[in-house]
Amino acid sequence: MKITFLGTGTSQGIPVIGSTHPVCLSNNPKDKRLRVSIMVQWDDNTFVVDCGPDFRQQMLRANPEKIDAILFTHEHADHTAGIDDIRPFCYRQGEMPIYAHQRVIEQLKIRFEYVFATKNRYPGAPKVKINQITNEAFSINNKQIIPIEGFHYKLQVFGFRFDRFAYLTDIKTIAEAEIDKLKNLDVLVINALREESHISHLNLEEALQLVNVIKPKRAYFTHISHLLGFHDEVQQKLPNNVFLAYDQLEITI
Ligand SMILES: [Zn+2]
Ligand SMILES: [Zn+2]
Repeated sequence: MKITFLGTGTSQGIPVIGSTHPVCLSNNPKDKRLRVSIMVQWDDNTFVVDCGPDFRQQMLRANPEKIDAILFTHEHADHTAGIDDIRPFCYRQGEMPIYAHQRVIEQLKIRFEYVFATKNRYPGAPKVKINQITNEAFSINNKQIIPIEGFHYKLQVFGFRFDRFAYLTDIKTIAEAEIDKLKNLDVLVINALREESHISHLNLEEALQLVNVIKPKRAYFTHISHLLGFHDEVQQKLPNNVFLAYDQLEITI
C-alpha cells in the first residue's frame, strides 16, 4: 500500500494569503502546505480522501491514472471545495464514486446542486455515484474500509482505516469504542493543528497523547497551521516514531 500526502495544511493552507509570518515566508518546501488530502494506492485501487480547493494542483503533481473512489471526512470547504475539478476523471472514467455520511451528501447537494441535479444537467458537469456510509465497515472493489468516528467540536467526522493504515483528520475528540478500532496499526495519520489549544482540532500535545493511547508503529501529523512552527524545528522535538507529514511525502506499508 502506498500513501501519498496530497496536502497537509489547515484550512487556509500555508502560506496564508498576505501573511508575513516567518513560516509563511519560509523557503523550505516542507513548510508549504496545500489543504489536507491523501491518496491511498492499495493493490490496483486508488482512493482519495477529501477533495479540497487544491485538488486540481494535487492531481497535477501526483498524477494518478484513475481514481476508484473519493471518500469524504466531512463537509467543510477545505475538504470539499474542489469537486468541480473531478471532471477530467469523469470524462475518462464516467461517474466518480463518492462515499460519505448522509449529512455530508445533503450538504454537497446544496453546495454543488448542478453536480447532483438529475434534470436539465449541463453536459460538462461532473458526474458522481453516491454511496452513503454509516459507521460500519464497507468495501470498495473487495477492499474493506472501516470508518472511524470522531468529533470536530460538535460536528461528526469520519476517519478511515485501510488494513494497517488509518487516517483521521479534523477531530478534537474520539470515543473509546472508536479507539478500539485502531489497534495494531503500522501507520496512523492524525491532525495536530498547533501548540495552542483549539475548540475543534487536536493541538500538538493532545495529538501526542492520542498516539500514546493508540500506539501505532509510526504516526504522522497533518492539518497543520503555520502557527505550529517550522517543519524542521517541530520535527526535532517529536518522539522517534512520530513525524510531521509534509506535502508529497510518500510512505509504503
Ligand atoms: Zn479541515
Ligand atoms: Zn473541518
